[in-house]
Amino acid sequence: MTNRIPLIAGNWKMNMDHLQAIALIQKLSWTLSDADHDYSKVEVAVFPPFTDLRSAQTLIDAEKFELALGAQDISKHDSGAFTGEISGAFLSKLNTKYVLVGHSERRQYHSEDDSVIQQKVAAAWRHNLIPIICVGETLEELESEGQSAVPIRQTIAALSGHDSLGEFVIAYEPVWAIGTGKVATPEQASEVAAAIRKALSESFGEVASQTRILYGGSVKANNVAGFLLHEDVDGVLVGGASLDAEEFSGIARYQKHIVL
Ligand code: PEP
Repeated sequence: MTNRIPLIAGNWKMNMDHLQAIALIQKLSWTLSDADHDYSKVEVAVFPPFTDLRSAQTLIDAEKFELALGAQDISKHDSGAFTGEISGAFLSKLNTKYVLVGHSERRQYHSEDDSVIQQKVAAAWRHNLIPIICVGETLEELESEGQSAVPIRQTIAALSGHDSLGEFVIAYEPVWAIGTGKVATPEQASEVAAAIRKALSESFGEVASQTRILYGGSVKANNVAGFLLHEDVDGVLVGGASLDAEEFSGIARYQKHIVL
């Protein structure tokens, strides 16, 4: 048993306009609510597109839903002539708590490398946001380097060169398991999570035992159990299945029954 509060995070990717976002959050508030749901033991967060954040935040605040809000990306800059970029300053004004950094789709389609990701982590901390640093190997890397080498290298790169570390979460997401229906086994996920935690401990000390490490990649309500039972896996990052309120709540509810 650890004192790390499990996190169930839903990455909506580029889905849901602001009206659909309102409907999904309302539905989630129903499907997630039940009398004995103790949010001090499980945290649930959603990551809508930027254009939905304002509507989502207004609804969550007005209705006092126990749902944390995250953004899917952040600019490494704070303000200025960076057309199309979104500053961490804007995100924190919308009560955004988390931000995904280095999601494999950003690394792949927007050429984000370790240096950009390191700077985005710094930007998140400047604005009191908690970065969820996404790491994971491609199929080619899995075959040539094994499963842990790339996630460890990406984790250490994102956290190196800062004067001090703020709070962060690591999401281990094997690229070959994202949106493909191919799921890592719970044992594989747990082994990599443990290897990341060991590397964190060797490089940064005590913070390793307090850091939440999530698994992501084709997680659904019917396969989440195996992951959450492992001590080193502190929750899940869910893509496709987070767009369905019943399915996403099924994942969160499972977590609740484990920790209660
Ligand atoms: C993701 O995008 O972070 C993800 C894990 O997606 P999916 O659950 O659809 O594989």
